Amino acid sequence: MATHTTKMLIIGSGPAGYSAAIYAARAMLEPIVVQGLQPGGQLTITTDVENYPGFRDVVQGPWLMEEMRQQAEHVGTRMMWDTIVTVDLDHGSPFRAIGDSGDEYIADCVVICTGAQAKWLGVPGEMELGGKGVSACATCDGFFYRGKTVAVIGGGNTAVEEALYLTNHSDNVTLIHRRDSLRAERILQERLFANPKITVLWNKAVDSFEAGANGMLHHLALTDTVTAEASTLEVDGAFVAIGHAPATSLFAGKLPMDDNGYLLTEPGTPKTVIPGVFAAGDVTDHVYRQAVTAAGMGCMAALDGERFLAARQHAVHEAVAAE
Ligand code: FAD
Ligand code: NAP
Repeated sequence: MATHTTKMLIIGSGPAGYSAAIYAARAMLEPIVVQGLQPGGQLTITTDVENYPGFRDVVQGPWLMEEMRQQAEHVGTRMMWDTIVTVDLDHGSPFRAIGDSGDEYIADCVVICTGAQAKWLGVPGEMELGGKGVSACATCDGFFYRGKTVAVIGGGNTAVEEALYLTNHSDNVTLIHRRDSLRAERILQERLFANPKITVLWNKAVDSFEAGANGMLHHLALTDTVTAEASTLEVDGAFVAIGHAPATSLFAGKLPMDDNGYLLTEPGTPKTVIPGVFAAGDVTDHVYRQAVTAAGMGCMAALDGERFLAARQHAVHEAVAAE
C-alpha cells in the first residue's frame, strides 16, 4: 500500500478524464489518473467512430482512447491501474481517496470523470451482436444504417428522441415498447406519432437478437406482453434505449445528484458544490453523451481546477504578506 500525492486527482479514464489530464499535465499540475475497471472508457467497447473531430477517416474506438492515454502520459500524467472505492470530500482540500489496491490518494483538487453505462436488456444475442447491428447510441451509429430498417427499444425520452433522430437516415423506424403508453414527454410523443417514417409496436418485449448467415443482426424475437404471442421483426439495426446509469454510487450522500443519479454542477461549468471538486463528461451529462462533449468538459474541469489552485496559492501568499 502506498500514498500518492498530487495537485489534481482525476477519477476515470474516458475522453473526459484523459482530456482533463492533458490540460492539467501541461499546466504542470502533475495529475494522477485512476483509470478504473474500464481503462479508456465506453469507446473501448465500440468499433467505428466517425464523429470525433480531427480524423478524416473512420477510427476505431479502442485506438482513439489508446492515443488519448499516450498523449496524456507523454505530457506528464501518472496513470494508475486502480479503482477508487472511497472518497473523503467532507473536510475540504486536500481531499483523500482510497483505491481497491489499498493505495491512498491525497489531492489538492479532484476531477470526477466516472462516466455512465448504457442499460442493456440482458437477452441473448445483445452483447454478441454489439457493433454488428445492436447499439445503444443512435447519434453514434445511426449513420451506418442509411436507407436501412431499424428498431428502437424503450418508451422514455431517449427512445423517442433516438427514433426521431434515426428518421434522418432511415424511412423505416420501429419503436418497440413493453407497455401500451409511453413515458416520454407529450411534445416528443406528438412528434413521434406525427412522423410517417415511424411505426410503434406496443406491448412487445424483445426476447433475443438473432443473427443472419453473415453474422450480422437479422431479426428480433418478440413476445406480446399481453397475449404472450410470439413474433419476429426483421431489422438491420436495433438501438437499445432503456436508460443510462451514471457511475456515481461512490458519491452518494457526498455530492448533490439529480433524480437519475447524475452529478449536479453549477450550470455551464464543471464546478460541484464543494470548492476544488469538479465533475466532467457523462457522469454529469444525460443530454449530449458524446466523446467530444466529454472531452470538452474534461478540459473545462482542468482549467477550473488550475484556477482554483492558483487562487488558493494567492490567498496563502496574501496571508503571509499580511503577517
Ligand atoms: P466514460 O467513457 O464512461 O469513462 C468512464 C471512466 O470512469 C472509465 O474509464 C471507468 O473505468 C472509470 N471509472 C468509473 N468508476 C470509477 C472509479 N470508481 N474509480 C476509477 N475510475 C472509475 N460517442 C461519440 O462521440 N461517438 C461515438 O461514435 C460513440 N460511440 C459509442 C458507442 C458505444 C457502444 C457507447 C457505449 C458509447 C459511444 N459513445 C460515442 C459515447 C461516448 O463513449 C461517451 O459519451 C464517452 O465515452 C463519455 O466519456 P466519459 O469520459 O465521460 O466517460
Ligand atoms: P427512462 O425515462 O428511465 O425510460 C426508460 C424506458 O425504457 C421506459 O419506457 C421503460 O419502460 C423502458 N425500459 C426500461 N427497462 C426496460 C427493459 N428491461 N425492457 C424493456 N423496456 C425497458 O430513461 P431515458 O429515456 O433514458 O431518460 C432518462 C432521463 O433522462 C429521464 O428523466 C428523461 O426525462 C431524461 N431525458 C430527457 C431528455 C430531454 O429532455 N430531451 C432526453 C433524454 C432523456 P417503462 O416505461 O415500461 O418503465
